[in-house]
Amino acid sequence: MDIENLKSHVHDIPDFPKEGIVFKDIAPLLASAKARNAATKLLAKPFMNQQVDYVVGMEARGFLFGSLLADVLDAGFVMVRKPNKLPGSLVTQEYQLEYGTDAIEMQLSAIPDGATVLIHDDVLATGGTAAATARLIKKAGGSIIGASFLIELDFLNGRAALDGIDTYAVLHY
Ligand code: IMP
Repeated sequence: MDIENLKSHVHDIPDFPKEGIVFKDIAPLLASAKARNAATKLLAKPFMNQQVDYVVGMEARGFLFGSLLADVLDAGFVMVRKPNKLPGSLVTQEYQLEYGTDAIEMQLSAIPDGATVLIHDDVLATGGTAAATARLIKKAGGSIIGASFLIELDFLNGRAALDGIDTYAVLHY
């Protein structure tokens, strides 16, 4: 399946979740077995010949392709979640939003020291979420080998926030 066909499975939703934002909706991509499969293969491609111990996916849409990607790469899958969702000992990372701050958490024992980690989320926008995830993984002792996204909003230059991390996206806008 070519890139234009894949892109036809990502719908633009104007003024969602608030006015002035054009939301990229990946629901049609998930709903099509062919498109979902093609997207998963393209996500995995740059990392097929690398040792990936864990894919770390961000709540909530990062869980979807993140676990498919982990399956193809024969890697473990680890969840990064919003506060108060995960049990046990946790690592926490705060990050800046346009107004105020937010935080993400991961289970402390999820990543053994020195394990190789691939970050995954559905969309790379400003890069704030992915940069916070990178800090979280480093705190937990993981070694980041790259970051992969289904969609990169190129005009927001989020990859600048991931300085020094190999960053890939299947679809660019
Ligand atoms: P960032 O932190 O600004 O890079 O935003 C990335 C986070 O916001 C990801 O977890 C995405 O799931 C979510 N996000 C931002 N824009 C969109 C969009 O257009 N569609 C779906 N999710 C989005």
